[in-house]
This record gives sequence, C-alpha cells and structure tokens, in this order.
Amino acid sequence: MDYLMFCDYCGMPKTIPGHIMREYFWIASHVYCSSCNKPNKIPQELQYIAMQMRGN
Ligand SMILES: [Zn+2]
Repeated sequence: MDYLMFCDYCGMPKTIPGHIMREYFWIASHVYCSSCNKPNKIPQELQYIAMQMRGN
C-alpha cells in the first residue's frame, strides 16, 4: 500500500511506497520534496504506521 504526503511549502503530493515507509520512515524525521527540495517533517501518524509495519 502506498501513502501520500503533501509538501508544506509547494503543496506537491509525494507518493510514499510501502517499503519506503517500512525501511526509512520509522528512523527518519524528514523527507525532501521532489519538487522544491525542502524538508518536510514526517507526520507522527506515518511514523507510527511505519513502526506497525515493522511488527512492533
Ligand atoms: Zn515542495
């Protein structure tokens, strides 16, 4: 399942594939927008979902 985030700066939607959530989101704090390259804080609920996906 893919997730969607919107850039806080330019509003560009970014698709987050499930495996990126699982491998990256639980330890990362920010993702970079692919349009304006600004760091967006990963929402706590996505970090929580990522941790659930890791089986915790
Ligand atoms: Zn942006």
